[in-house]
Amino acid sequence: MQSVHTAEAVARAGEALADFIRREQRLWIITGAGVSTDSGIPDYRNAQGQWKRSPPVQHGDFMTSEAVRRRYWARALVGFEAVREATIGGAHRALAELEAMGYVEQLVTQNVDRLHQRAGSRRVIDLHGRADTVSCTSCGYKMMRYALHAEMARYNPAFTGLDAGHAPDGDADLEIDFSTFRVLDCRRCGGIFKPDVVYYGDVVPRARREAALEGLFRANAALAVGTSLMVFSGYRFFREAHARGMPLASLSLGVTRADPLLTAKWRAPLTPVLEQAVSHLKQTRGAA
Ligand SMILES: [Zn+2]
Repeated sequence: MQSVHTAEAVARAGEALADFIRREQRLWIITGAGVSTDSGIPDYRNAQGQWKRSPPVQHGDFMTSEAVRRRYWARALVGFEAVREATIGGAHRALAELEAMGYVEQLVTQNVDRLHQRAGSRRVIDLHGRADTVSCTSCGYKMMRYALHAEMARYNPAFTGLDAGHAPDGDADLEIDFSTFRVLDCRRCGGIFKPDVVYYGDVVPRARREAALEGLFRANAALAVGTSLMVFSGYRFFREAHARGMPLASLSLGVTRADPLLTAKWRAPLTPVLEQAVSHLKQTRGAA
């Protein structure tokens, strides 16, 4: 198992990935938490695809329980800082470079941190939404999340300045009494504010799902980067692509739900492998 991380193994994976990209030319890429771990945003699952932490909030619970919302927003006051402060990493940069070189038909991310866009990727679909904005679930009124947090912090001084481990969606490992936390509702209609993120138990909006699928059908092959594809909303694309006979590849540190469908799989650290692949592709272009 150690061998997958040696420089030699990374070089081999980088070359094989470059070959795959050169052969297929137009890729549909899906990314997950693994591409953002270098940016200080932890992932949800271990190498076996199991939860590392308590699963994230469920959509139904959030919408129906005031106690769940108090707990959610109080924890987010702590945890969201990590998402706000995150900076792009090598994997984001390499994927943006692949797009600039013309190899990316569509980049679909399951991350909600917007780091692909900040790295310069343009053809991005935020499959599970974005964590930096909130909307009223009744009237649609939208605001920047940091502004809502700042307001909530003013109403809840006892809940500011706390420290705890954090999660990819801006949650935090905080277990205290949340009963006195004051949640702010929509200033227009009194409705429930919710981050523009697709929670577990919620569905990806249809137009977004279809746009991702159309991108898949325009591509020649699909590549998963840093994702276990355990969540069905991401896995379904690989099933669809497999049914169409498309080549499927994965670069990740752990197992993926799509392993039986894959034509190629590199179990290696993402950033060095992607960087090597980009450098190989540049060399062959220079030689052509
Ligand atoms: Zn409203």
